[in-house]
Amino acid sequence: MALRHCAGNFLSPRRSAYMTPHSSMSIFARQMNMEAQSVAAHLNSSGFIRSQGLIGGKWTDAYDGKTIKVCNPATGEVITNVPCMGGKETNDAIASAYDAFVSWSKLTAADRSKCLRKWYDLIMAHKEELGQLMTLEQGKPLKEAIGEVSYGASFIEYYAEEAKRVYGDIIPATLPDRRLFVLKQPVGVVGAITPWNFPLAMITRKVAPALACGCTVVIKPSELTPLTALAAADLSIQAGIPPGVVNVVMGNAVDIGDALLASQQVRKITFTGSTAVGKKLMAGAAATVKKVSLELGGNAPCIIFDDADLEVALKGTLATKFRNSGQTCVCANRVLVQEGIYEKFANALSSAVQSMKVGDGFGEGVVQGPLINDAAVQKVESLVQDAISKGAKVLVGGKRHGLGRTFYEPTVMADVKGEMLISREEVFGPVAPLLKFKTEEEAIRLANDTNAGLAAYIFTTNVQRSWRVTEALEYGIVGVNEGLVSTEVAPFGGMKQSGLGREGSKYGLDEFLEIKYVCLGNMN
Ligand code: ADP
Repeated sequence: MALRHCAGNFLSPRRSAYMTPHSSMSIFARQMNMEAQSVAAHLNSSGFIRSQGLIGGKWTDAYDGKTIKVCNPATGEVITNVPCMGGKETNDAIASAYDAFVSWSKLTAADRSKCLRKWYDLIMAHKEELGQLMTLEQGKPLKEAIGEVSYGASFIEYYAEEAKRVYGDIIPATLPDRRLFVLKQPVGVVGAITPWNFPLAMITRKVAPALACGCTVVIKPSELTPLTALAAADLSIQAGIPPGVVNVVMGNAVDIGDALLASQQVRKITFTGSTAVGKKLMAGAAATVKKVSLELGGNAPCIIFDDADLEVALKGTLATKFRNSGQTCVCANRVLVQEGIYEKFANALSSAVQSMKVGDGFGEGVVQGPLINDAAVQKVESLVQDAISKGAKVLVGGKRHGLGRTFYEPTVMADVKGEMLISREEVFGPVAPLLKFKTEEEAIRLANDTNAGLAAYIFTTNVQRSWRVTEALEYGIVGVNEGLVSTEVAPFGGMKQSGLGREGSKYGLDEFLEIKYVCLGNMN
């Protein structure tokens, strides 16, 4: 497959702003391109690169033939084009999902469970290819991408099991001739809108519980990373999940979103993405009073107390801050360090960050890939500049990486203050801002001083303190002496403006169920 460039002149990629001219292209950059090209060619020939949407079980182009490019953020090359769909295609996808709901919701839980289990098995059987596809379109290191495939698949396995445990209730009646029941039933057609940072897991966290309950879905993946979503949807069909149960549309986000919101047939919107878009969707869902789950931005505090185990705190901070190059909503956004351990911790973190290998996700030993696009790098740059202008110091990094394009140096900053923009906004990049605090009360006040409330981390060896601080934190998820907290068996979600609802665990099922109370009378 011929690869072309996203930026600049198609026929002359040399003119792209971040490309080194071919004649003087570094050996490393050339290797990066070759590796990505051969992976893309292999995935294409083995049918893993799907470049059409999926409506009612049929692979479909945009009705007006328009397409959008999907690019590799590490090299800028076009991987393929996908349809630029809008309201019409979305309405057809909704109609297919609505038709399929009739039979899918009537299957036994055991039958739905078998389909989900097959889907899980197929994803796991192809985890290498799916991981490669993810690295190609999203940029994360291959090992991390394959890890996401296993993590994403775990939601399908878990909900294949949980499908059989959607229990109702029998309530002791208040009158002798009555019998009172609670039935749990699927809400209906679900619109699932997902971001680019976890191209598979954000989909499976929504679609697996929805399908387990008997719902059908219209997925709108991010236009930046639709290929993993399409490959996963293809495997759902191979697993025997009937046509129309899983539909995928992509293209004009606003038109697709509006169609999902306007439809009376869509009974639930589940979204992961920015707080701004989440608020729009919540407002839009009001017109038809849909159920809404939102997993929005975070501003995670990572609190290191004087009594922390330095090694544990360092490992946890590196894991939560630098995973996916800092592009996750549970990434530590502010590292609050108590004054007694501040110097030691700052030195240890700086030397660990200094040695991180940055590069194309296919490169040997690479732990930091590119950021998703130039807008992401510009945001990081402006937050770092704002902090420097207000007195923060760069200990490591602090600028674009020599590799060019959207690579940014893993960064540690000291003397950061709570009022700087870097402490107020989600950085979504590989920058660890260190803020010094004196007392536990001050740490709690600083940590809660934000509209966000998704994840928080604390590092301490004092058990009483770990409980006290955990209870005081206004966050939906708290990691104590641990930086990696996400798992399919635990509820994931935020408080305050970080969202509504929970994904994963038994609680994740409730988001896709209606509760129906049944009163049987005249039972004497
Ligand atoms: P991010 O900054 O992570 O890209 P966004 O909230 O912009 O977060 O995007 C998350 C998802 O929401 C993507 O699939 C995007 O296309 C989609 N999206 C963006 N704007 C809208 C909208 N107005 N209606 C529906 N979906 C939208």
